[in-house]
Amino acid sequence: MPVLQSPLLAALPWLTHGFGVRSSENWIPAYTNLKQIHSSKVIVADGRRGNLEEGDALITSEAGNWIGIRTADCVPILIADPEYRVAAAIHAGWRGTVASIVTYVVERMTQEFRSNPGRLLVAIGPAIGPCCFEVGPEVAQQFHSSARTIDLATANSQRLIDAGVASGHIEVMRLCTFCNGPGQFHSFRRDKEQSGRMVSAICIGFGDKKSAGGEPAL
Ligand SMILES: [Zn+2]
Repeated sequence: MPVLQSPLLAALPWLTHGFGVRSSENWIPAYTNLKQIHSSKVIVADGRRGNLEEGDALITSEAGNWIGIRTADCVPILIADPEYRVAAAIHAGWRGTVASIVTYVVERMTQEFRSNPGRLLVAIGPAIGPCCFEVGPEVAQQFHSSARTIDLATANSQRLIDAGVASGHIEVMRLCTFCNGPGQFHSFRRDKEQSGRMVSAICIGFGDKKSAGGEPAL
């Protein structure tokens, strides 16, 4: 099965991206990645490849440098700046969401790459949904909620909007990794230690999509 794509990001001719599913494990041969620690730490990957240090978000403006994150229930978020051609990949579990990692990514893109938050395009991929993400009071409290379930995608969307991203520029896929069936997505909550991880990644091309190097076999 091919990866899932956001129409919002797929419309950019200079960009390639995908949200991996269970059956697309090795859809991308190699990509720049981090040792994920559920933090709000953002790493700029320009000029760097391979397995980098600890952190949970990558930003690049470098053509041909695939950046990616791995998830199984946590929220994969891909961002593109169509104005200055910058891309970001974010791993936001509940801890990263509470720590507002998306806010730090938008700030870093603004400060280092001149991005205008109002121009950014965001795709929020498959993650555990409010249908299945039951939490205890100590976690709910961190979301200032008294509910027993948490909607991580909406929490991240709200933080992005607070950071200046236009609500119409945020696409939420609304695919729950837990209840969509074991065949479709990896879910750490459902499969525990048996769970694999799905790779979501994004890459800036060298020109338009047809001339971009390093295209994966989607
Ligand atoms: Zn669900």
